[in-house]
Amino acid sequence: MAKIIAVANQKGGVGKTTTSVNLSASLAATKHRVLMIDLDPQGNATVGSGIRSDSFTQSVNDVLLGEALVSDVVIRTQWKYDVLPTNADLTVAEVRLLQMQDREQLLKRALRSVQSIYDFIIIDCPPALNMLTVNALVAADSVLVPIQCEYFALEGLSSLLGSIDQIKKSVNPGLQIEGLLRTMYDGRNRLTIEVSEQLLQHFGERVYQTVIPRNVRVAEAPSHGEPVITYDPRSQGAAAYLALAGEIIRRYSAVAVA
Ligand code: ATP
Ligand code: MG
Repeated sequence: MAKIIAVANQKGGVGKTTTSVNLSASLAATKHRVLMIDLDPQGNATVGSGIRSDSFTQSVNDVLLGEALVSDVVIRTQWKYDVLPTNADLTVAEVRLLQMQDREQLLKRALRSVQSIYDFIIIDCPPALNMLTVNALVAADSVLVPIQCEYFALEGLSSLLGSIDQIKKSVNPGLQIEGLLRTMYDGRNRLTIEVSEQLLQHFGERVYQTVIPRNVRVAEAPSHGEPVITYDPRSQGAAAYLALAGEIIRRYSAVAVA
């Protein structure tokens, strides 16, 4: 059964999409079967995976609205992970979604048919605690929260944790915090170090040991429609995302053994 990880933080620009794309590519590079779901109408994860937004006719919208099967819509990337793509139409779908019955459960239901054919399903969430993010949190086993170690980084974290708690208590009791990931980390910046220390104090082992450094190659890769691990395999960003994949795989195998 696939582990379903929602990459969420309602704060914008913290590295959700970058993490979804590069974690998916890194897990696929280590021979895992991966599906990445682009649940953000901005469609950055789709384009960042080398898929042009005019190259597909069906998208995650059709899947959520029950008008297509996941397996009919997925696109295989050359980096060997599958993408359930999106485009701006998802904004329209979101409005229709609000009028549907069991509207929080639509993604969960749609994923049932593919859970046995993937090892990991990674969901890139939009920067909002809206119905799309709720669908991701209801479908997920765990949440990975990217955090940019800057002033205000911790603001909003409590409302995200509050939403996770609410969903846990109501519809998805098994939902876990997968981990907090420090992104765009600049070890020379005092504020980065201070925020990072606060995170470790508050959340301890739930903070990943792997830190994603601020790295220009990471920022350049999406404009080439490519993950950084192939765009520049020797960059610090590539090494960091491969290390993150390793840390996640080790955590799961430790749980499986225990
Ligand atoms: P949104 O909330 O809009 O969906 P996001 O949380 O998905 O944003 P990203 O799009 O992944 O964030 O990243 C925001 C910007 O920061 C992008 O321009 C991205 O290329 C850049 N970026 C992300 N991670 C890094 C990094 N490690 N080093 C340098 N730039 C980065
Ligand atoms: Mg994004």
